[in-house]
Amino acid sequence: MAIERTLSIIKPDAVEKNHIGDILAVFQGAGLKIRALKMIQLSDAQAKAFYAVHAERPFYGELVEFMTRGPVVVTWLEGENAVAAHRELMGATNPAEAAEGTIRKRFAASIGENACHGSDSVENGIIETNFFFASSDAL
Ligand code: ADP
Ligand code: MG
Repeated sequence: MAIERTLSIIKPDAVEKNHIGDILAVFQGAGLKIRALKMIQLSDAQAKAFYAVHAERPFYGELVEFMTRGPVVVTWLEGENAVAAHRELMGATNPAEAAEGTIRKRFAASIGENACHGSDSVENGIIETNFFFASSDAL
């Protein structure tokens, strides 16, 4: 298996509920390496651009509103099979369908406010880490 990179976003709901440390502990406990990390307030334009793939979906406006309502923590994660491993740790998009012990099962309230984002392919792991970080940010 290859060393991959993937982007995590701890979403505003999880930041509001003080779960930053809990979620980072899950990543670190699973052996994912944190290469870069920052807490930021997304602008409307950034949230719209990041989720542009969902622009035609009925929940797009609600999603942009949610993602900009408070700070998020963006993390560049790296590891063996990191994209799939991270998605597995997060659980299903809808927390009602997420497996026991996953981040979304433990910390998310609804399909919209679901605690975390994770890249969904190796290609998007590169595109999305580049969206928030310069190569020189990785330590
Ligand atoms: P994932 O985050 O698991 O990759 P998607 O890429 O399908 O899921 O959706 C992106 C985000 O849009 C979700 O994490 C969630 O915050 C929001 N979302 C997805 N589906 C819905 C929905 N039916 N209603 C409201 N928000 C949704
Ligand atoms: Mg997605």
